[in-house]
Amino acid sequence: MKINWRSIPWAKNSFAALNAACELSGITLNEVDAPEDDITCYSLNSVNEPHFRDEISDAECITIAGGPHPTACWEEVRQYADYVVIGEGEYTLPALLRMIESGSQTLPAGVASKKQVVMPNHCVLLPSYPPFTSVKGYTEISRGCPFGCGYCQTPRLFGRHMRHRRIDDIERATRVFRDVRFVTPNALGYGSDGIHIRLDKVEKLLKSLTGRRIFFGTFPSEVRPECISDASLHLIESYCANRKVHFGAQSGSNHVLQMLRRGHTAEDVMKAYDLCRDHGMTPVVDYIVGLPYESDDEQRLSVTQMKEITRHGIVHVHHFTPLPGTPLAGTSARTILPDVQRELGRLAQSGKATGSWIDAEARFFKDNEDQLS
Ligand code: SF4
Repeated sequence: MKINWRSIPWAKNSFAALNAACELSGITLNEVDAPEDDITCYSLNSVNEPHFRDEISDAECITIAGGPHPTACWEEVRQYADYVVIGEGEYTLPALLRMIESGSQTLPAGVASKKQVVMPNHCVLLPSYPPFTSVKGYTEISRGCPFGCGYCQTPRLFGRHMRHRRIDDIERATRVFRDVRFVTPNALGYGSDGIHIRLDKVEKLLKSLTGRRIFFGTFPSEVRPECISDASLHLIESYCANRKVHFGAQSGSNHVLQMLRRGHTAEDVMKAYDLCRDHGMTPVVDYIVGLPYESDDEQRLSVTQMKEITRHGIVHVHHFTPLPGTPLAGTSARTILPDVQRELGRLAQSGKATGSWIDAEARFFKDNEDQLS
């Protein structure tokens, strides 16, 4: 049976991880640019999903769809895909492929077909799977997030319990790279529950990679602002090659942050900014504008904070997109005020702001095309 993986730039890291999991089960995935016999697998997000819907529905082979969008909207996706993988795929995808190959009709946990669904009953232990094998990707060091930010699919896909890959496994996997980059919801959360930071474990990890160029706390391993301290920046300075630290602010309004359940304040963001500046590091700070809870004044408050940040740093700004499966699904983005647009335009012209506040969807294509390219 020939099993194919539909090449999608956004999903390169998912391909690397699931290819490794399939190899462990003796299954080879062939990368293809269109659906082919016998089975073609897709990993979809909520923005690129409409672009693949007709292709999947017209495919003459068996189709399997997984990823953030099918997990959140499995009932909708199973209308056009033969099988939907709900949640993490490392265990489920090989089990489903084996089921199809054997001709069995008993779905493994975490799969929906046209007529049945068996909800996931497990979560993946990262040490049980390599981050990648023959198809290289970034090294995923942690999965899951204890925070439940209203706009984010991560805790809905991976759960709220942080799980970590072992240091010796990370060291072994990254030997093939001179430059080492990580995937994690919060790099400084490594080895901890994500709330009570364990810098001793972060240091142990970084020390184990001595001799390589380590990029930590910068894309794609951003950090949370309240984790930035003299001690954590000292670790990055001592062991890492990056001189930028990337963290999320999302809004300059404490009311909006509270409504989003971000778990930090606007003051935490400015404190992180000051610390980065004092350590000679450039802060790169994420914002979302047009959030449903935001008043006009609160939108302007975000811009006021962005202007402070850009005295020494860069802001990365996106227009809010409501994602399925999140508490903010079904809400609408607020319009960006004309004066806010003008200020963002000025910051962009001076090279201090990047992002996609005009076309929110561009974020999902552009950011992810950057990955591994
Ligand atoms: S935005 Fe970051 S901190 Fe918030 S839930 Fe998502 S991964 Fe966690």
